[in-house]
Amino acid sequence: MERRYLKESNGHYEVDIDISVDEWKSMLQNHEIFYENALDMVLKWYNEVGHQATANTVKEKYSPELKRPPYNGIVKELTRRILKHLNRFEVIGTTGKKSVFIVPFEGWYVDYKRPNKGFVWKLRDELVQALEEVGMVDRQIFLSKEYLDKKEQENINKAFQLSIYELEKKIDAKTKKQTLKTTSAASVRYDRDPDVSALALKKANGYCQLCGNLAPFLKKDGTPFLEVHHIRWLSEGGVDDKTNTVALCPNCHRKMHILDLQDDRDFLINSIK
Ligand SMILES: [Zn+2]
Ligand SMILES: [Zn+2]
Repeated sequence: MERRYLKESNGHYEVDIDISVDEWKSMLQNHEIFYENALDMVLKWYNEVGHQATANTVKEKYSPELKRPPYNGIVKELTRRILKHLNRFEVIGTTGKKSVFIVPFEGWYVDYKRPNKGFVWKLRDELVQALEEVGMVDRQIFLSKEYLDKKEQENINKAFQLSIYELEKKIDAKTKKQTLKTTSAASVRYDRDPDVSALALKKANGYCQLCGNLAPFLKKDGTPFLEVHHIRWLSEGGVDDKTNTVALCPNCHRKMHILDLQDDRDFLINSIK
């Protein structure tokens, strides 16, 4: 068995991994090598810009509930199966022990003088090409609901900095778009325009548009907590625009989703006008 030695320079790790696209293709389709969790892992990296990310970034997107990224263990087992199958070489790391992540990935420190800043893994080009050629890249992988909620909130907070006038102008300038669906682990979600949400919140000015009470609490940034609701639900074809969105307190929001009384709908529609 040939021994190849991992070299490190300026925090960048390198070793000759001469696995061909065809070899990757055949291994990708071999369930004894690419277990479901390994395939899932490489697809997550595939979906990142440049097919590169730190393990922590990927974990936050897909499984924020975990304390630590699970990918070290997954890549270690995957590489063990790959090297056994190829039976050609093994990689010795800089500490003299076998190195494992380096086979499907290249890797470097984000800022090698501060290793705690994170270590970037990048899918090898040949593996990327193989994934595309075997048509595996269209497989759905699921973003976590927490991640989507967080992103949505960040986008709304950003849009909230604009004035009502600016938001209305911005929204009007957009071409009518179809509401997109995003699939999360929990359910189908609909992508909402953060500008539309921010506008509904601004216009409500801290008061629930159904019961008229003040928002139950202020968020950390000092703005009132209300939830944006679509009077005609997106799931029933309602549009994501200012004629269909209101800001509600959490109780009234639940009420609209559980009872959805026609009187309440009419009241909300009138309150927008
Ligand atoms: Zn209310
Ligand atoms: Zn709602």
